[in-house]
Amino acid sequence: MPLLQVNNLGKSYNGQSNVLEDISFDVGAGEFVAVIGPSGAGKSTLLRCINRMVDITEGNVTFDGSDIGSLNKRELRKTRTNIGMIFQHYNLVPRLSVIENVLHGRFGYKNALQGVFGKFTEEEKTKAFTLLQKLGIADHAYRRCDQLSGGQQQRVGIARALIQDPKLILCDEPIASLDPNTSKVIMDYLKTIASEMNITCIVNLHQVDVAKSYSDRMIGLNNGRIVFDGSSYRITEDR
Ligand code: ADP
Ligand code: ADP
Repeated sequence: MPLLQVNNLGKSYNGQSNVLEDISFDVGAGEFVAVIGPSGAGKSTLLRCINRMVDITEGNVTFDGSDIGSLNKRELRKTRTNIGMIFQHYNLVPRLSVIENVLHGRFGYKNALQGVFGKFTEEEKTKAFTLLQKLGIADHAYRRCDQLSGGQQQRVGIARALIQDPKLILCDEPIASLDPNTSKVIMDYLKTIASEMNITCIVNLHQVDVAKSYSDRMIGLNNGRIVFDGSSYRITEDR
């Protein structure tokens, strides 16, 4: 069974017209998929339906054998430990150190904000530090996140998403706030680490050229509908 199955997904906010309509696709373990489309196409909404940050209006999402829409709160929390999120604006806790932000990936963003930090074990700290080394920012482990550049903050975001060994990471416009050189660094890290750790990746991007050069497969969204879905290699050839 594929890791993720999206079947006839529809989404409307507050009973308004659908912003996603009849979306169906499967993603197999280890795939690196780019979702592309203009602003307002529904890319963020799609990722938010997959981890149920928003309620699903129609159809269903099955992740790792669970029907996401029918999980109760506790089951959803457990399932979400297998789904990492990376955001355009990093969503770090600015006053906390890099390593604290990474460790908070274990407790969830909301809990981190509420100060439910818990006590981290040496093993957890070592794991966080190792991830920071992989991402080339271990030297900044004890600096406050708000003192880092955008590219450094996004590397913290990646480490935070990886600390729970997720099966899937959802990246919502991870490079939209970064300059082209930094974007390349971030995409290289994402691609390399996802492949090394055997993590499936779905990345929302609005830059088609970036999507082409990094993804195995592209799903095009426009006006809430899938307009194409195929191998990135084929798409490069065809145009
Ligand atoms: P994209 O990520 O491709 O820019 P979004 O998923 O953010 O697209 O938005 C798709 C549509 O849904 C847009 O028309 C947007 O205005 C609308 N939308 C997004 N979030 C909400 C929300 N919380 N409430 C109402 N409408 C929303
Ligand atoms: P981003 O650059 O992160 O896509 P957006 O402006 O699309 O920023 O969305 C920022 C926030 O506003 C999101 O939480 C989104 O759900 C919400 N939002 C977007 N469009 C609408 C809308 N039409 N009505 C209500 N909320 C919206």
